[in-house]
Amino acid sequence: MRYLWESAAFDDALAARSFWRSTSNAPDLPAPLRGRQKTDVAIIGAGFTGLNAALHLARQGRDILLLDARSPYWGATGRNGGFCCLGGAKASDAALRKLGGAAGPRDWRRTEMAAVHYVDDLLAQLDADVDRHSQGETILAHTPRAFARLRRTADGLGRDYGVTAQLTPFEDMETQGFGGRFYGALTLPIGFGLNPQKYAQALLGMALAAGAGLSPFTEITEIAGQDGDFTLIGAQVQIQARQVILATNGYSAETLLPELTNRLLPVQSSVIVTRPLTAGEAAAQGWHSDQMAYDTRALLHYFRRLPDGRFLFGMRGGLSARAGEQRAVSARLRRNFTALFPAWRDVDISHEWSGLACLTRNLVPFIGALRPGLYAGLGYHGNGVAMGSYAGALLAQQISGQDLGLFHPALCQRPMRRFAMGRARRIAMRAVYAGLGIVDRV
Ligand SMILES: Cc1cc2nc3c(=O)[nH]c(=O)nc-3n(C[C@H](O)[C@H](O)[C@H](O)COP(=O)(O)OP(=O)(O)OC[C@H]3O[C@@H](n4cnc5c(N)ncnc54)[C@H](O)[C@@H]3O)c2cc1C
Repeated sequence: MRYLWESAAFDDALAARSFWRSTSNAPDLPAPLRGRQKTDVAIIGAGFTGLNAALHLARQGRDILLLDARSPYWGATGRNGGFCCLGGAKASDAALRKLGGAAGPRDWRRTEMAAVHYVDDLLAQLDADVDRHSQGETILAHTPRAFARLRRTADGLGRDYGVTAQLTPFEDMETQGFGGRFYGALTLPIGFGLNPQKYAQALLGMALAAGAGLSPFTEITEIAGQDGDFTLIGAQVQIQARQVILATNGYSAETLLPELTNRLLPVQSSVIVTRPLTAGEAAAQGWHSDQMAYDTRALLHYFRRLPDGRFLFGMRGGLSARAGEQRAVSARLRRNFTALFPAWRDVDISHEWSGLACLTRNLVPFIGALRPGLYAGLGYHGNGVAMGSYAGALLAQQISGQDLGLFHPALCQRPMRRFAMGRARRIAMRAVYAGLGIVDRV
């Protein structure tokens, strides 16, 4: 199989120093299946998308087999920032109208809200402590001009999401605990932070308890057949399935299905986590907020204080997973972190990791049928904690025909367009990043 990224991007070394891995034990896993197998619905990829689809289909009594080339939630699901928040698309309102008609922007916002509420409700059912915190999400202005823009958009944003957006002017930043190189803030009371691995682990437990089957370390390299009679082929296994869900997001192969070739653009995101900060260190920087936050840069930084006092800080990663570029990413992360939070320049970084998120040419997720019987949920544009979870549930709803009461927007079911630059599209992102970097400096 051919991938857009070199093999180093699939090396576990990029995830091995994830903070989340140190917060819970790896689950007991069954042995990979061998030989000829049969299932009703085969789900490829056991991250948020696959796990949520498996959970609902298994609850409906369907025979489900969840497959992953590695262990469950090995992909972005086990290594993200844990922002359960609005987002999942990068399309402008004009582009949303093109995809979804006049109602496109409204439909998309309804979907974003529904995704966050969906996870909120689900967590209430999972008997698990996932280290929740934060009352919604805060956007921090990186320049005075950016704050003026936030001020202008606050009422409209609030109206769009049916909430009240709260502005924090520069002079109140310190009392609100937003100490750092920021010039004001806007908070939308939607979303919360969580430990993504604990959430995924609880989901896996619930899906297995509902009757889903699991075959870890099972990479599918070919999908043959048609609706009602697919054959999935791995190195040691052949699985007959009536329907198939592809939930492989940033780890998708270019060549597994023609419908995916040149349609997805995996991009790296990278995170550092500090050791727990002392009260004195927190005070020195003036950051005592529990809000999850990001800044107004086009190439944004995302950050939050974790419940145990550590600070998590993430941003776009490299465009190559090779060692030289990863060292440069590591240096840039530290540079940007200390530029925004100078009082913490000498604080130890205890954890650091990277993973692949995924963009589509339509700049919205695809959640629907690629062809009869073959479904996919992917392309959350770096915001898949809520949206990936919701996509999995939507696919279960679509496949079973059983109404889960979830809104499934037509604009996420439009065929994925091809990227113009073919295999050069990853490297072409260098120019995009360079351009956005200039925008952020003016
Ligand atoms: C560093 C980082 C930080 C992020 N932070 C946030 C955040 O704070 N909030 C947020 O909302 N989103 C965030 N994201 C994005 C979010 O993590 C993803 O959108 C989401 O986890 C995608 O889930 P998924 O289940 O669709 O895919 P993944 O979790 O990536 O899982 C895909 C799985 O498919 C498997 N697979 C691939 N091909 C095959 C095959 N052929 N056969 C079998 N298995 C296969 C892989 O092994 C993998 O486990 C972040 C992403 C990264 C990388």
